[in-house]
Parts: sequence; C-alpha cells; structure tokens
Amino acid sequence: AYYFIDGQFTKQDEIKISIDDRGYYFGDGVYEVIKVYGGELFTAEEHISRLFTSAAKINLAMPYSEEQLIGVARELIERNNLLDGHVYMQVTRGAAARQHHFPVPAVPAVVTAYTMEGSRPKENMKNGVAVKSVEDIRWLRCDIKSLNLLGSVLAKEEAKAAGCEEAILHRDGIVTEGSSTNMFGVKDGVVRTHPVSNLILEGITRQVVLQLCDELNIPVEEKAFTLAEAFQMDEVFYTSTTAEVMPVITIDGQTIGDGQRGEVTEKLQKAFATKIPSLCKQ
Ligand code: PMP
Repeated sequence: AYYFIDGQFTKQDEIKISIDDRGYYFGDGVYEVIKVYGGELFTAEEHISRLFTSAAKINLAMPYSEEQLIGVARELIERNNLLDGHVYMQVTRGAAARQHHFPVPAVPAVVTAYTMEGSRPKENMKNGVAVKSVEDIRWLRCDIKSLNLLGSVLAKEEAKAAGCEEAILHRDGIVTEGSSTNMFGVKDGVVRTHPVSNLILEGITRQVVLQLCDELNIPVEEKAFTLAEAFQMDEVFYTSTTAEVMPVITIDGQTIGDGQRGEVTEKLQKAFATKIPSLCKQ
C-alpha cells in the first residue's frame, strides 16, 4: 500500500520519520479520519476544513491547500484501490531538537496520510453496544482534533477492560461525549446532545445527524444532559466517522430504554445510509 509523506507517495518500508518529530515527542499536531464508501470520500470538505481549523487553533501553518489535501486523499484511494475504509491524515509541527516551545527557526510541518480498509460495523449498528461511564479527565480544548489523545486512550481502555465498546465521558456529572464519538440521548421524541463548546469535538457525523433530524422533523435540543439523565433516556446513541449512528443498549450494565435499538436511532441510521451517495459527491 502507498503512504503519503513529505509530498511523496511511498511504500511503507521507504518511510522515514524523524525521532525529533514533534508529533512523536509532544503529540504536537492535528489529524483527521475521512470515511471512504465505494472508493469515494465522505464529507471530505468538512473534514479537511476541520483539519485547517484545528491547525489554526494551535498556530500550525499548513503546508498545503485544502484542495491539495483532498487531492492527496483521492490519489491514495486510487493507488491503493481502496473501496471501503478510511483515509487517515495527520500534520505535525515538524522535526526539531526537543524543546517545548515552537522551533526557532520554524521547521516545515510534516504531513502524513494513508488508507485503511474497513467495513461498516453492521452487526453493532443493529444490535447496539455497551458503554461504560468514565470521568472526563481530558484537557479543556477538546474542540481541537489534536494528536494528544491520552485522555481518550485511557478512557477507551477502561471501557474495553469492562467489556464495553465505548466510554461515555462525564465532567462534573455532565455527559460531554464519547472517547472518540459524540453522545446523544432521546427522551420523549426529543434528541439531546452536548452543545458545541471547548468540551467536545464538533463531529462531522454529529453535524450530518443534526441535519437529518431537521429534515425528518425530529426535534433537537443541543443542551447537555447529566449521566443520571442518560440512564433515564428512551434511547442513547453515539456518532462518529467509523461508527456512523451507533445504538447504546447498556450503560454500566444498566439497560437503556427497552434494551434494543431505538426507533429514532433506527430512523436516523436509515436516513444516514440514504444520504451517503450525495455526501460522497463534492
Ligand atoms: N469526539 C471525539 C473526541 C472524537 O475523537 C471523534 C472522532 N473524530 C468524534 C467526537 C466524532 O467525530 P466525527 O463524527 O467527525 O468522526
């Protein structure tokens, strides 16, 4: 398979990454995961635009334009004959002797990207998954899609150790999001989710789902809910690029609603699937 690094498409064994790369030392960089359906990028512009926003928030100068990076993603898909899976793309502040402050003089950012095969999680999307509540100990700039993922790594591991698929993170008793997903609840037909703020990543799938709610006339309240309220929801689901719309069946072993994929969740899953072709064309 081909990888993109330093402006070139290369095979894995030819890749050279500096030990001084700030991504390696500090997680000093940003990234994106773009889903590929039938060889086409899904919501590519939204993802690349978020990559630039994340970079700007950490004062990282992007060495390519948005169009160029979409071109890189497309070329990787073509070279690797990828049908279903995703493109991973990351940008670090480059390689320089290890000092916390930005390199002086500045060094070029390092852009790497590759493709990964993977199919839609159809079984889990139908049967739903278990999640574990985990305290949200992450930093206060969760709006940045930063390579610093230790808080998410530890949360996901804690969930996995408990036999769960995802962690439902809570800060001061309030549900923020999942370790790599956005959390939603449904109560009396109303969809609830944490508002966009520094405490969550504004998921592209979250945006798509809110748009679908609008089109389906499903009322939405972008208002945070507590963990205690989460247990009382009729339905809970989470969204992400790879998980799409994922029903949550239990939290900490406690059944949510009737213990099956909920009505609203299923409706949104169907609408999401219908939307894939049009959101692949850009
Ligand atoms: N929150 C966090 C913390 C994430 O890492 C992700 C995955 N990128 C999401 C939410 C979902 O975002 P998206 O729908 O853009 O994949």
